[in-house]
Amino acid sequence: MKKLSVKAKITLWFGIMFVIVLFLTSSVLLYVSNGVIQKSIKDNLIETVENNVDEIEFYADLESVVRPNSYDHYIRYNGGYLEVDDDYLDRVNEVYTSCCSYDGKLLYGENPVSAYTSELPFSDYNIRKVKAGDTNYYVFDRKLDKDGLDNLWLRGVVSTEQSSAQMLSIARLSLMIMSAIVIFAILVGYLLAKKALAPIKKISDTISDIERSDDLKKRINIEDGDDELHNLAKSFNMMLERLEKAFDIQKHFVSDASHELRTPVSVINSQCEYTLDAPRDSEEYRDSLEVVWRQGKKMQKMIDDMLEFTRLESNVKEVSKTRFNYSEAVEMICLDMKFISRNNITLNDDIEKDIFVYADRELITRLITNLITNAYRYGNENGNILVTLKSDGDNAVLSIADNGIGIEKEKLEKIFERFYQADSSRSNEGSGLGLAMVKEIANLHSGSIRVESEAGQGSTFTYIMKKA
Ligand code: ADP
Repeated sequence: MKKLSVKAKITLWFGIMFVIVLFLTSSVLLYVSNGVIQKSIKDNLIETVENNVDEIEFYADLESVVRPNSYDHYIRYNGGYLEVDDDYLDRVNEVYTSCCSYDGKLLYGENPVSAYTSELPFSDYNIRKVKAGDTNYYVFDRKLDKDGLDNLWLRGVVSTEQSSAQMLSIARLSLMIMSAIVIFAILVGYLLAKKALAPIKKISDTISDIERSDDLKKRINIEDGDDELHNLAKSFNMMLERLEKAFDIQKHFVSDASHELRTPVSVINSQCEYTLDAPRDSEEYRDSLEVVWRQGKKMQKMIDDMLEFTRLESNVKEVSKTRFNYSEAVEMICLDMKFISRNNITLNDDIEKDIFVYADRELITRLITNLITNAYRYGNENGNILVTLKSDGDNAVLSIADNGIGIEKEKLEKIFERFYQADSSRSNEGSGLGLAMVKEIANLHSGSIRVESEAGQGSTFTYIMKKA
């Protein structure tokens, strides 16, 4: 049983239940039909005997009653004559009616089982059952009470198994119909189970396939549907999607980390090799240590940014959105960042009051900080940064403009890619992940980020998101 497939088990269960239900139904049906048939046999027996009661009369003198062309019967009885009317039915519908004297002597009619009923005393209006050989018979007696008929009885007999042939054919027919229904039901049940369980087969096939090929790109392909199994397949596909993304991110992280950390590590190694190669004075040791320290800091920043970015990308970091005053948040960031004393750059802002958004405040702060940090980093001596926040219809439009070194046209498309750095001379402090992070945060808020820039003139980054 354990080895049977789910499909076979369902079909088997379905088939057995069906046979039981049909068997019980047929048994009840046969039992009830038999009861009805037996009742109608008894009713028929009573009715036939009752009809015959009035068909017998007694006449003392025969001459006065004999009618020409009549088929009535005359039997000598008790010094006179019994007239049995031609309407007397001594055998009809397997009911035999005989007329007997009180001592059981047959005067008229038929009784095929008289040998078995002769010992049975007469009993008026009473149905009894008598066994004659292998067959049971109903016996019904009526006492005649008209003048001259004293001590005469009518006895009707009918076989109780008169209906057995009918019952047998009903049983045979219902057995045939039942078998046909059971076979049909098992067939349909099997096909239904097969169809219903098809998604499970597809799921297990796909999983084995993925296991064999190590290819997380594979998906469960099933037709549209909205039942539990289709939903299960959809959930599996969603899970595979997430797994594939997580593996991709992990793969990227490992390859990015080994690639990006290789440069500072080899700078540190060669610096140490060079310094330890020969005796140095303290000034040279100091210079060497400074190089190592700078590269260490660069590595630290890179690792921090990589971890932060990976967390964002893989949704490990929870996005907790709240409604907050965007204007106040931008204003506070500007206030803090005005104190960065770099290249004598001035930061100005023009912020429209009370613009609210529904967003993750920490992530939005990160986005704005990254953009302003870049504006400082890639700004010119005595330059300017202008942060503006305006409302435009349903949107809040934030722009950060600088008059710094700008970006060449052909590099503009790439600056949002991870680790891309357009200007190698100033890239020392960054990790090349700042704008990739900005883009990821914008995506998480269904916002859009774009840049306009001209080499030597400056850049403007614009971030648009819905107001709340
Ligand atoms: P980084 O850590 O190198 O700053 P980002 O991802 O923040 O990395 O930026 C990617 C590259 O885009 C930078 O290396 C720089 O060349 C260019 N860039 C970003 N912001 C500006 C800006 N305001 N002005 C000029 N170039 C910029």
